[in-house]
Amino acid sequence: TVRTRIAPSPTGDPHVGTAYVALFNLCFAHQHGGEFILRIEDTDRERSTRESEQMIFDSLRWLGIEWKEGPDVGGPHGPYRQSERGDIYTQYVDQLLASGHAFKCYRTPEELDALRAERKEAGNFMALKAEDLQLPADEVARREAANAPYVVRMKVPREGTCIVKDMLRGEIELDWAQVDAQILMKSDGMPTYHLANVVDDHLMEITHVLRGEEWINSAPKHQLLYEYFGWEMPELCHLPLLRNPDKSKLSKRKNPTSINYYRRMGYLPQAVLNYLGRMGWSMPDEREKFSLDEMKANFDVTRISLGGPIFDLEKLNWLNGLYLREELTDDQFIRAMQEWAFNREYIDQLLPEIRPRIQKLTDVIPLAGHFFAGLPDVAQDDFELINLPVEQQKELLQLMVWRFEKVRHWDKDSLFEQVKVLSSHYELKPKQLLAPVFMAITGSLTSTSVIDAMAILGSDMTRARLRHAVD
Ligand code: ATP
Ligand code: GLU
Repeated sequence: TVRTRIAPSPTGDPHVGTAYVALFNLCFAHQHGGEFILRIEDTDRERSTRESEQMIFDSLRWLGIEWKEGPDVGGPHGPYRQSERGDIYTQYVDQLLASGHAFKCYRTPEELDALRAERKEAGNFMALKAEDLQLPADEVARREAANAPYVVRMKVPREGTCIVKDMLRGEIELDWAQVDAQILMKSDGMPTYHLANVVDDHLMEITHVLRGEEWINSAPKHQLLYEYFGWEMPELCHLPLLRNPDKSKLSKRKNPTSINYYRRMGYLPQAVLNYLGRMGWSMPDEREKFSLDEMKANFDVTRISLGGPIFDLEKLNWLNGLYLREELTDDQFIRAMQEWAFNREYIDQLLPEIRPRIQKLTDVIPLAGHFFAGLPDVAQDDFELINLPVEQQKELLQLMVWRFEKVRHWDKDSLFEQVKVLSSHYELKPKQLLAPVFMAITGSLTSTSVIDAMAILGSDMTRARLRHAVD
């Protein structure tokens, strides 16, 4: 059976790119009567969080993407979280050490820097290979005896080309000279992406790997590892990366990339999924509006075009509008409104903001409109009402966006903490700093508490509004 997978790293907001790759893997599996599974690649312990993992599950499900096996649904090839598979990786690293395809490297970071600097000076751009890293045997023995930290690296040819087959690109030639003797296991015993990815794809019986083209350079290393283990390699298909309208790689500096943003903003999941299905792919009859079932029924990987697909908000807005106007029955429309923001859970959060500040129910909407809005229209003039130079206000808002990107637990206290740090750095009162934030978030200078509003609106909508005000 054909088996495909998505293997996201839970290190931040759930990315639209992850959903795009998941969609194509799902459709490919379906086309061949196969199975699609989800694996969490959380070997980066510093950056991986359970919150982020949960957001990946929630946002993919919201879009209507389902997996047959995964950390949350189980399955016969588990565990599906790499952090829980440590013993498995150790076993395979030992196998490579025993067969001589890998070696322990005791080089310190300082020594590595010195080696690289030496090469650069000599104009030698070849990657570092096993022979370059080797220490004299007595030195290795000495470090081993002293229990010095080491990593395990794979051996990589010094020269020649590696030919990797790609379902869309045919044969890709890559130069071995550019490939370092890759680390397979870090000094803390954690595997790296390359090792864990290959071992897991094999053990989870993955037959086809559809992933972003940013991974093409990893393919030679993976291919070599499959050879070392004597395993058959899955077929590879590198999908074109999503791009901003200016053709650069889609990035959160220019475009919201979090699925949560699109959800909060009031896009319909089926419209977002339809739009992602048009990224580099089209229906045989070129129709623009199609459902997941229609895409599954018509999917054909050879219809993927390699020109960088542009993720264009205007087009997405247009498509979403079609769905809202034409696709939904009245009942479905009302349910969509309820699910989006007119639900008990959301309104419960607003009560403490609204009730203390009103005299009549008719005051609610004017007061709380910003909880139901997208990006407020704020003009230069609005910021001029505030007693700080406009340039400085924008600088502060930008700094705030950057600080907020790093907030892990999005709540009032953490947000206020960030505001205090920034205001003391600029020798402003928190209140002065909050004036431009107020404007950017609520579109006015008097409203509900802005810290509360940001906590309720969530990280994605908050950052989008702040960024929108700076642009
Ligand atoms: P940003 O540039 O916005 O910070 P990023 O590249 O840092 O994004 P990551 O957190 O590294 O994003 O990626 C998260 C997931 O999204 C990865 O699986 C990655 O393959 C995928 N991804 C990121 N950017 C794109 C893109 N432009 N097209 C398709 N997939 C992408
Ligand atoms: N963990 C990698 C990612 O974040 C997986 C890449 C792959 O599919 O091999 O995208």
